[in-house]
Amino acid sequence: MPGAFGHMIGAWLCGRAYEKIRNITFTQLMWAALFFGAIAPDADFLIEWITDDLHIHRTFSHSLFMVVAAGITVYLLLYVFSRVRKTKIVNPAFVALLFSFGIATHLFLDLTTSESGVQVLWPFSDKWITFNGPLNHLDGTPTYGQLKWFVKMATIDMGIGTAWIAYLFWRKKLRFD
Ligand SMILES: [Zn+2]
Repeated sequence: MPGAFGHMIGAWLCGRAYEKIRNITFTQLMWAALFFGAIAPDADFLIEWITDDLHIHRTFSHSLFMVVAAGITVYLLLYVFSRVRKTKIVNPAFVALLFSFGIATHLFLDLTTSESGVQVLWPFSDKWITFNGPLNHLDGTPTYGQLKWFVKMATIDMGIGTAWIAYLFWRKKLRFD
């Protein structure tokens, strides 16, 4: 169950690797697209929170369908934005692709969690899938053990997030002045 930091770090590692291999430097917008893509699927948590009874976490927002649809949407938004504001965006197709790729890294990491699964084939199938295969999803109130595990995972996420930020700070990639 990678948390927000886990997802951002996963995308960041991929982005850095791509920069190194292709010997290029991402623009700020490219990094933003990659990071937002990596955490966007979990915005479905907010919908669940607000509506209180819609159980949609890890369904449509965690699907391959969303990977494609979100990329196309971002590309169209960038196109409209650059037209309206009469500004030129560097390589908008690549920016949109990075957003899609960010979502794909999110799905990949969530698929590694064997206890909850992801509806990655939505809307074609509502099976909860993990890398170990599909599972029967247990809906309803989580058990005490599950909650304890959840808190443990959230703590680990905060730990690696703190280490990541410390690393960026140390490498002078983060500045606050
Ligand atoms: Zn997720």
